[in-house]
Amino acid sequence: MSDADAATGKPQSFTRKTLGDSNDKPKVPEIYKCCSNPQITYLAPVNINIDERTIGSVDVWRCASCMKPFCEEKTLGIDSISDIVGMPRIEDNEKWAVIISKLQKGKDKWKLVKLKETGMIKFETADEKLIDLKIENYRIVDDYHSSFLVLDHIHTAVEI
Ligand SMILES: [Zn+2]
Repeated sequence: MSDADAATGKPQSFTRKTLGDSNDKPKVPEIYKCCSNPQITYLAPVNINIDERTIGSVDVWRCASCMKPFCEEKTLGIDSISDIVGMPRIEDNEKWAVIISKLQKGKDKWKLVKLKETGMIKFETADEKLIDLKIENYRIVDDYHSSFLVLDHIHTAVEI
C-alpha cells in the first residue's frame, strides 16, 4: 500500500475539488431563460373588467436584464384554465395581447395571446372551435373580436 503511494507521490487523503464549476449550479428552467442573466420580477397586473367588476387579470412579469415581458392569465374564482403554464417564451416579433370576443360572456369573453405584427392567428373559441383571426399592426381585425396590448395598460383596468 504505502509503496504504491510513494510511487505516485500523492498522499492518499488528497481529494481534488473544483470550485466554481458551472455544472454544479441548479439549472434554470428553459422557460425562464430569456437571456444569459435572467432576473424576472413582478411588474404589475392589468385587470379585466366587465361592467366595472373585475372578472380576471393578466399578471405582468419582466426580466430586469433584457426587459422581456412575461404574462400570466388569471381568471378569478377559477383554477388556471390557461394552457399557458408558468412563464412561456415570447418571440422577439410577438407582443402580449388580450383577445376579446363579442360573442361570449363572462370569463369566456377574453383570452391572453401572443400576437405577431401581421398575419393570422388560430383562436380557440369557448365552444372549442378553431377560427382564423386577422392581425394588422398587432391588433385583431374582425367583426366579432377585438384586442388590446397588455403592456399598454399596465396598472390599469380594461373594460371589455
Ligand atoms: Zn432576460
